[in-house]
Order: sequence, then C-alpha cells, then structure tokens
Amino acid sequence: MIMRPNSIEARDAASQMHPMVNFRQYEKSGGLVIESGEGIYVFDNSGKRYIEAMAGLWSVAVGFSEPRLKEAACAQMDKLPYYHTFSYKTHGPSIELAEKLLELAPVPMSKVHFTSSGSEANDLTCKMVWYRSNALGKPDKKKIIGREKGYHGVTIAAGSITGLPLNHGSFDLPLDRMKHTSCPSYVHFGRPGETEAEFTRRMLQDLEDLIEREGPETIAAFWGEPVMGAGGVLIPPAGYWEGVQKILRKHDILLVADEVICGFGRTGKMFGCQSLGIEPDALVVSKQISSSYMPISAILVNDRFYQPIADESARIGSFGHGFTASGHPVAAAVALENIRIIEERDLVGNAAALSGQFKAGLEKLAEHPLVHSSRSLGLIGALEIHPWPDLPASTAAKAVAAMVEEEGVICRSVGEALCFCPPLIITGDQLDDLFAAVGRALDRLAAERP
Ligand code: PLP
Repeated sequence: MIMRPNSIEARDAASQMHPMVNFRQYEKSGGLVIESGEGIYVFDNSGKRYIEAMAGLWSVAVGFSEPRLKEAACAQMDKLPYYHTFSYKTHGPSIELAEKLLELAPVPMSKVHFTSSGSEANDLTCKMVWYRSNALGKPDKKKIIGREKGYHGVTIAAGSITGLPLNHGSFDLPLDRMKHTSCPSYVHFGRPGETEAEFTRRMLQDLEDLIEREGPETIAAFWGEPVMGAGGVLIPPAGYWEGVQKILRKHDILLVADEVICGFGRTGKMFGCQSLGIEPDALVVSKQISSSYMPISAILVNDRFYQPIADESARIGSFGHGFTASGHPVAAAVALENIRIIEERDLVGNAAALSGQFKAGLEKLAEHPLVHSSRSLGLIGALEIHPWPDLPASTAAKAVAAMVEEEGVICRSVGEALCFCPPLIITGDQLDDLFAAVGRALDRLAAERP
C-alpha cells in the first residue's frame, strides 16, 4: 500500500507504535484502518467489507454491533461510571459478575479477582502462586512450568510463561523461574513413525523429566491453554491432559488453565476445560467474557489456592495488590450482559452445532495443493500451509493470509498456520462464505505460482 501524505494511514504510521509489528515496515506500509463493524463483519475506511474470521483477537463472541452491550455500558455510566474495589469498598456489577463466574465455573471455585487483560490476569496469578508458596512456608517452591508455543500474554511474568521466542527475544525474558516443557502438537513435533499415543507418552515423559531435573519441591504451578491459540491453534492429543494432571497431582503442583481464548464457548462447551477434561486450581478468563467491548479479565481460584493466600494477607495485614480498574463497574456490567447474551442465544450450543461444518470446511480446504492439513475444535481451527519451493511455510502462510484478506476475510497467520476463530454468532451460510473466500484465495495463489 502506498500511503498518501496526511492520509489517515500516514498519520497513524507517523504517530503510533503498534503491537506485534515490525516498526520499520510499518513506517512504510502503514496498517489497515478498520472503521466500523456489523455482526461478523468489519468495514475498512474504503468501505470494503470483511468477514472477521478471527473475531478481532479471538474475542468478539457476539459480533461487532451488539446494541445490548452499548446499552449496558451507557446504563452503568449513568449510574456509577467508576468506582474501585480496593480497601474494603465494592460495587454491584463486580459482585454480580463474580457470582456469575463462580456459577459457570467448570469445577468448584471459591473466589474471583478482577483484572483488565489476559496478561495482567496471568501475571497476578503467578504472583499469587508465589505468595501462596510463601504462605505455606515453602519459599523454594516458586518455579512455573509453561509450554513451548504457549501464550499467556506479554507482561514480565506472563510473558515469561509464554513459550514463543518473539515474546522473549531482546526483552530479557523469560525470568529464570519459568521453565518450558514440550509443545504437545503431534502435527509439528511427532517424529517419523511415531504414533499419536507414543507421542503423547513422550510429551508426558518430557514433563516428568523436567520436573525431576528441576526438583519437584521447587515447582509451584503448571500453566496451559486447553487448546493453544496464539501458538497456532494447537490441539493436544487424546490422553495428554489426563496424563499431565496425574503428574501434577503426584508432585503437588498447581494447575492454572488459561481460558482467555477458550472460555465462554469457543470449543463448543462453556470452557475448554470441559471439552478436554481439565480440573484446574485456577482459571484465567478474558476476551469473550465481554466480547472485548470493554477490557476485563478475571482469575477464579479454588479453595486450595485461596485459603493460604487469605491467611498470608491476614498475617501481613493486607493483600498488597490491586489495579485502579480492578472490577471496573462499566466493564463488569458489559461482561454480565455479554454472558447473558451468550446464554440466552445459546452461542455455546451454536459453536457446538457448527463445529462439524467448520471441521468439514477446513478439511475440504486441506485438499488444496497449497495446504498440508487442518485441525479444529468447536469454532477454533487452522490450516497448515505447505512450504513453497522458494519460500518457507511461514512466509507462504503470510502470503495466503494477505490473499484471503483481499478476498474479504480477515484471518491470521501464525508460523505456518492460518488461524480461524470466527464470532460465535456466525451462521452456517456465513461459514460457507468464509471458506469459499479462502478457497478463492488459495486458487488465485496457486494460479500465480505454478
Ligand atoms: N492468554 C491467552 C491464552 C491469550 O490468547 C492471550 C491473548 O491473546 C493472553 C493470555 C493475553 O491477553 P491480553 O492480550 O489481554 O493481555
């Protein structure tokens, strides 16, 4: 794209440092200006319409024009636009939302703490894990195990649990306390001749070996997304989560499930933990909790997690943590209304009902010569792009994503994967449109590159 002087694109490139871009490239290319949204669609500043097949950043469950969320925000703005939850103060929206989350939780949970982003929530959960170990008189039990290709955000602790090199390099991360075990993606890391069951056993052995090497008494918690999202939609093999939980229980290691993407219906159940048989001690949610109309995230903890922390706060005199926006009333009111909509319209059921069509659509596209394979669960999935003779698969996937965008669908390339995570309100017909556009883009590329 050529940027005209003083165009909105040029003003943007001259004024902002955007997340997750190459700044030098951005100075030249600028970005795509999105101006409005309607249902599953967004419109750029030339009026072009796109199916937002990533639901923004894996998050806009109810679509881009839900009037009830606007009304909920306005009503709360009128009543009490801001109040905090520090120092023995509280307010209705945060209470109602906490109760709702405890009611929905996939396993019994005791308490909820609010934050504003997935990174903040994971960062604080990590601090709480350390606080808890101190409370239990185990000051050496502080290490955290994340996974290669896991994504838990970008703040210092959360970014350290993340297992993606781009989020570490030159930031002096990860912290020493964070260790990473193997990524359970059979399609990427299965060895020639290795069955999926053998692969699963190897993944579990890698985890055991890491714990033994580090010393089980030094390991406080294991972090995992039920389905890894930002690593490229990586779905663990059967038996993986069951095996992980056995190992963690044996070594008295807490399990933190990062449901920031999976939570609120993405996998066809309310939580990814329910789809994959995970019983965590703490659950981190964000994104679809408010369809990202307002920034809000939450940490749910069970009694085993909560009680020692409560004792420690009593011993010290106060839990020395909190954000100005923790439990923000407008964000909480929007989240509550969003969850009501998800329930009333049975969007979790919609994800489950469309999951077969979604899988079949991706499988059909995987027959294309440029595509290696597909994978999905509920309404999250990916196509694995083949390397081209002159291009690595990751560059090829970027080119496919760009062509798909030309065809009017926004998806996302992550490494060699092309990721899809459409709004949960999508219909069967709209899914057909989405896959037809991806098919056209693949055909155009194949014709251009015989
Ligand atoms: N955890 C997971 C699983 C995520 O996918 C993300 C963001 O994509 C985060 C945490 C970080 O959330 P945020 O970008 O709100 O900090």
